[in-house]
Order: sequence, then structure tokens, then C-alpha cells
Amino acid sequence: MNKIATICPYCGCGCGLYLHVENNTIVGVSPVRNHLVNKGSLCVKSWNCFEFVHHPDRLKYPLIKEKNGAFRRASWDEALRLVAARLLEIRKSSGPDSISIVSSAKSTNEENYVMMKFARAVIGTNNIDHCARLCHSSTVGGLADSFGSGAMTNSINEIVHAKLLFVIGSNTTEQHPMIGMHMLDAVDRGAVLIVADPRKTQIAGLAQFHLRHRPGTDVALLNGIMNVIIDDRLVDIPFVKRRTEKFDSFRALITKYPPEAVERITGVSAQDIKKVARLYATEKKAMLFYSMGITQHTTGVDNVCACANLTMLTGHIGLPMTGLNPLRGQNNVQGACDMGALPNVYSGYQEIRDPKSRKKFEMAWKVKLPRDPGLTLMEMFNGVLKGDTKALYIMGENPAVSNPDVTHTVNALKKLDFLVVQDIFLSDTAEYAHVVLPAATFAEKDGTFTNTERRVQKISAAIEPVGESKPDWEIICALSREMGYDLNYRATHEIMEEIALLTPIYRGILHHRLEGDSGLQWPCPSATHPGTPFLHRKKFAKGFGTFMPVDYVPPAEMPDSEFPFILTTGRTCFHYHTRTMSRRTSTLERECPECLIEINPSDADSLQIKHMNVVRVSSRRGVLTGRVYITENTPGGVVFMPFHFGEAPVNMLTNPALDPSAKIPEYKVCAVRIELIK
Ligand code: SF4
Repeated sequence: MNKIATICPYCGCGCGLYLHVENNTIVGVSPVRNHLVNKGSLCVKSWNCFEFVHHPDRLKYPLIKEKNGAFRRASWDEALRLVAARLLEIRKSSGPDSISIVSSAKSTNEENYVMMKFARAVIGTNNIDHCARLCHSSTVGGLADSFGSGAMTNSINEIVHAKLLFVIGSNTTEQHPMIGMHMLDAVDRGAVLIVADPRKTQIAGLAQFHLRHRPGTDVALLNGIMNVIIDDRLVDIPFVKRRTEKFDSFRALITKYPPEAVERITGVSAQDIKKVARLYATEKKAMLFYSMGITQHTTGVDNVCACANLTMLTGHIGLPMTGLNPLRGQNNVQGACDMGALPNVYSGYQEIRDPKSRKKFEMAWKVKLPRDPGLTLMEMFNGVLKGDTKALYIMGENPAVSNPDVTHTVNALKKLDFLVVQDIFLSDTAEYAHVVLPAATFAEKDGTFTNTERRVQKISAAIEPVGESKPDWEIICALSREMGYDLNYRATHEIMEEIALLTPIYRGILHHRLEGDSGLQWPCPSATHPGTPFLHRKKFAKGFGTFMPVDYVPPAEMPDSEFPFILTTGRTCFHYHTRTMSRRTSTLERECPECLIEINPSDADSLQIKHMNVVRVSSRRGVLTGRVYITENTPGGVVFMPFHFGEAPVNMLTNPALDPSAKIPEYKVCAVRIELIK
């Protein structure tokens, strides 16, 4: 039996594991004992992360849709020739911007880089985006405005040494279990744990303070905390003077948020707001964490900026055991952003509008590049319905389940002139494709993933690709050559060499430096640089940190007499995203086989609903049915549903209203009605 060291394919923690291989079959998994993140542990998903690799549903050869709507098997040559011909035709007749590309937070850095190059250099469009748009685009935008860099500022292995952990909008022990493990270790050593979340999640149940604010009132809550800090003269004045700008306009706004007024907006008592403010401001080793409870709002960027304001006000940034720490969801969502799978930047967040950056990439790729930012993910689907977008190429994503208001998305998929889906299974989205290309899983390819703390780590092929499937980068390169652009690499280390050459924050990151340990954290500006465990040490990435005054704005859709409940969405620890992998894993499916609709006992009583009754949930956009799980963990007036289940697609209900700058949808709040089905 061989043991191959690699990285977990599920969440952004980036845990190290071994795949145990016998006769080209993965037969087991075990944790890397000395890995800095997981330290010899794994969570339930990772212990079971190999079953889906050998599942009979794996796509094993290319598929082409016939006129009668059925798929037939095709050779790679035929499928690639067809895709190349159709994309060239559409580009010629409707222009390069009539084609859009969806890249993947599940694919490697090398694959995202190659896909980004394919969109810009081969197709000639900046219409490239991926699911970060749906989870942390507000982080990328908000932290760029506040600090100049949109990533987790500190490191996971600092958590255990912190004295205070403030977690807002993150169900950490379920969604980032190994980071949750570090947090609970810190609590065991005496750290104070504060959790702000409308739901009583597992980690909220373990906290000394659980601030149970109303969904969508994060800015008010954070402004209230900062009001107390300013009023009590707990501001780190030397830090604010030396390192930041625009404090006066920010302070003027914060005076509008005394804790008593904030109590009326958020439902959190003024007393608790004062206690938490004083604790956070006076503890030097205080780390702030957030996740999609902060980002997935029409005020996502404002929420992120309010978090950034709090860290600057108290000087809790630029030092170990401090910082602002967005917990990224997918295993390589940080890397997909770093690689420029976004409509406005090349790799390393180099602006496409900056003529110097554009020139650099034009010279390297020997082609003229488009100048204007492209479409974001939701704009691509709107573009299809308007008739502007004719073709979509989707790699490893499943928008037919993951987009908000999925009816709108499915209508767009049906209307496309040409849809290519490249994936490991025939996903809900792939059903609408004209051509389906079979991709290899994480266990069948080499490359790198970048975890939530900016740690770039090597993954290694444990087995040969299943059937005729191929790594994403090989497929894209072959297609590019078919389209007349010579995209050619012999192995993934050559792609990384090109990334390093063109991307200052990855300049010192080369495959041979990633072997045998826990990788390197960017920025890593030279081949001898050891990587950067925490950011903004002496100055912010943009020079001065900027206080962004942000006012509380309610969610786009609030309950009313027709739709009297707030629906909020999230995940469970047993499944991942649209369940394409986890539902093909028997243990995970056994533990959580169906979508349960969580409501509070008081609401169940008033609607005369009993535990496990079937109800109809409707919003202005759609209707679904499911069984009720009655729990105090969900507050009165709120309904919680996980978003994994295609059978009960909660995104039939969610509101596609977007944050104006980050264009992230408001998954966390919309208005619904619940009716008992008798
Ligand atoms: Fe995998 Fe995340 Fe679990 Fe670690 S915490 S084992 S990366 S799913």
C-alpha cells in the first residue's frame, strides 16, 4: 500500500492527509500528524473524502448532446473540435464578450491560472468569475478598501495562543472544523470566546457571550460596539494616529449608535454590547473571525468594512494573535481569487485597468488583451436572458443549485446557444450542457491549493485519472491549441513557474519549495523568502488603513404580512455545497440524508406544526416542501435551511438582490411564508 500526502478537497482549512492506495484504488485516508493546521486530526468529511472518487457516477468520457436531448459518448478529439468550433463561431458572430467563463474554487491554482489565461488570451474577454462571487467577494472588495489586501490577516496556528476570540457570522466548528478545534483549544487554555450569530450554533453554545442579533443587523451591532469603545476612551490612539486615515468622519458616524439604540435594532442588550466592547478593546491578543454570515448580504462590503474598522480602532491588527480573519469556504477559493479568476484582476490582484499590468501580461502571453472589466457571475446569467451572452463555459461549479433564485439561472442555462460543462459528475448544471467534459478529481492530479490563511500547499496524484477523465489544466490547454493558441505545459510545475514570474505575491512560490512541509504563505516575494504568517505588520498593504464610515441599512427584503418569516441559509457539517461529492459518500449521506427546515418552537406552536411535519415554504420567487425540525437553536421569526439539497433547492426562494459593489447576493435574509401540508 502506498501513502500519498495531499490536501483535503473540502473546506478552506487546508488540512494535510494521506491517501492510502492499493492497485490504483484509494482504500483509506489518514491525517498528516505534524501538519500545522490539522495536527493529526481530520473532520468527518475528510475521513470519507475518497469514496466519491471511485463512485460509479463519475464522468468517464466526453458527452455530446444529440438533437433529441440525450447525451451520447464522444471521443476527446470530437468533443474538443466541437467546443473549439462553436466558441470560435460565436466569437466571430457576436464578439468575445458574448462568451463567459466560470472558473472553479475546487480546481488547483495552476488550473485557475490556465483558465484565466484561456478567457483573456484565447477567447479575448474578461468575463471570468467563480463562486467567490457568492461567498467572499465582499471580503475581497471591503478589505481592499480598508487595508489594501482582501485575505485572512493572521494564521491558524496563532489561534491557540490568543486570549480572546470574537467570531461573527461563522458556524466555525461545523464549517471549518479544524479551525474550530484550534478555537476550542484556546478556550481550554483560558481564552474568552464571543460569538455573534442569530442562530445558536454549536460554537455559540460554547461561548461565554452569545450575541444573538437579528439577521442583517451586523453593521448596527459592530457600530454599537465601537461607540462604546470610543465613549469609554479605549481607542488605541497611537495606532489610529500612526497607521490610519479618515478617523474623524468615522467617529462622527459612530456617535449615532449608542448601545441603547443598537439594542432596539439588533435585539442584543445594551449591557452585553458594553461588556463585549470592553473585553475586546482591552485584550491585546484578540482575534476577530467572520464568514458568510457577514459577507452574504446586500450590505456585505459594509459589514466587512465595519469589522475592519473595529480592528483598526483597537490596534488589533499587524501583530500575531490579532487581526481580521475571513474564513474562506472552498478548499481553493482563496487560490482561485489569487489566480485572477475574477473579472477585474489578473493573478495577484493586478488590475486589468492598470496599463502597466496589462502590458506585462500582453508581453508574456504575446497577445493583445481586453481593457475593460468583465461580467460578474450573476451578470453573466442576466446577460444570457438579455441576449448578450451566447455561450458559457463552466468548470467545476453548479450554479443550477448554488445561484440565488435558481429558476432565473435555469431559464438562462436553457436559453444559451452553447454551454460547456467540465466536471467530475453529471451535475444539475451539466444536464443543460451541449458538451460535457470529464475532469479528474483532486486525487488524480498534481498542483497546489491555497487555504484560507494564504498557505499554498502541494497536492499530488495518488491514482491515475478515472476512465478517460483528465485534469482541468490539460483539457483547457488542449482546447486552446484546437482554437489556435499554443497553450502548452509539460507539467503543473511549469505553470507555477509562469505564475511566480508574473505575480509578485507568489514570486517565491515554486513546487520544489512546497514539498514535505506545510507550504508557504503569501506574500512570498522571493525564492528565499519564508512566507508571511501575518499581514500589515508595519504598514497596511495600501499604506494607511482607511476607516470606512458605514451606516446600518436593513436587508433588501424584510418580512411582511404576506411573507412573515426571515429565511436564512447555511450548511451542515456533513455536506458540502451542492452535495455533488458528499452525497456520493455513504457515511455523510447516512448522517444527513434530507433537507430539514429549522424553526423555533414558538413559531411551530403558532402555526400548529409538529416536529417532522411536512410544510410548504414560499417566497416571492418560488415554493418548496420539506420536513420541519423544531429547535430553539433558530430564533423566533426565523427559518433556517441548508443549501446543499437539489431535492429541496432553497435557492428557489432566496433573493438575488446584490451588494452594489461586490455583486454578492443576499443569501442570508429573505422573506418567506410557511404552511402546514395536511
Ligand atoms: Fe477537510 Fe476542512 Fe475538515 Fe480540514 S476541516 S479535514 S480541510 S473539511
